[in-house]
Amino acid sequence: ADLLLHRLGPYPRAVILVAVAASEYFISIGIRANDYEVALVAASYYMLLSTVSVVAGISVIHYMQRSHELYETLSEDSTVDGLTGLLNRRVFEAELDALRKDEPSVLILMDIDHFKRFNDTYGHPEGDRTLKVVSRKVKNIVGKDGITARNGGEEFAILLKGRSKEDALEMAERIRTTLENSRHITAGGEYVGVTVSIGIAAYPEQAASPKKLYSQADEHLYIAKKLGRNQVCCEDAHELIIAPSVDKVK
Ligand code: GH3
Ligand code: MG
Ligand code: MG
Repeated sequence: ADLLLHRLGPYPRAVILVAVAASEYFISIGIRANDYEVALVAASYYMLLSTVSVVAGISVIHYMQRSHELYETLSEDSTVDGLTGLLNRRVFEAELDALRKDEPSVLILMDIDHFKRFNDTYGHPEGDRTLKVVSRKVKNIVGKDGITARNGGEEFAILLKGRSKEDALEMAERIRTTLENSRHITAGGEYVGVTVSIGIAAYPEQAASPKKLYSQADEHLYIAKKLGRNQVCCEDAHELIIAPSVDKVK
């Protein structure tokens, strides 16, 4: 009970301690005066107050455990995207900001093609399901080689630390072809699929800062869209590398 009492705030603890001490005092007076009725009443109070303090202590511990669980849930929510389970943008930006110039890294930005049209055709809930399917496929390909995040909307980002642009190009092409060649079934029983456009940029090779890295990859994503979507764009020494037809644009 003492241990539990310690968990209470100072004010309720003081009240309970004073009351228990008073009960003990009256028990001793009752025993000394051979007045067992007084001692019995005081002992009953003593038992009652001890029980109250144990129950109060247990409630406080329960409350603290619950607060701790809530805290854990909230901190997980603030790192993970609710729909897809990928990392969220905030955490990804922190990863980008922490990039070091002595460890070359590559950023892959990916955006689903004509996703507004997809939503208009199959409905927003199917759009949400598709975002989950795409996320799972991307995550399966990237695995532990990179950090995968949903940047918001239908845009995803992958950070490959200590990897070359060639590695990133190969991975991006794998993601692109996997999605191009796969279908999933809607609640209405239709087989549907989406394609993606991808932009790649390397740090520090193509960008002086993590912010520039992001805008460079975004620029390449924009080019992939402009050139017809469902392709990967990675500018290299002022030559555009467009996969799959790598030699198409020079
Ligand atoms: P583009 O090929 O140029 O990227 O065309 P787009 O239609 O994909 O691009 P746009 O930016 O015009 O529209 C993005 C669409 O993505 C609009 C919005 O309805 C949809 N979208 C964004 N976030 C979500 C989401 O969380 N769930 C669903 N279902 N749709 C989303
Ligand atoms: Mg899009
Ligand atoms: Mg978009």
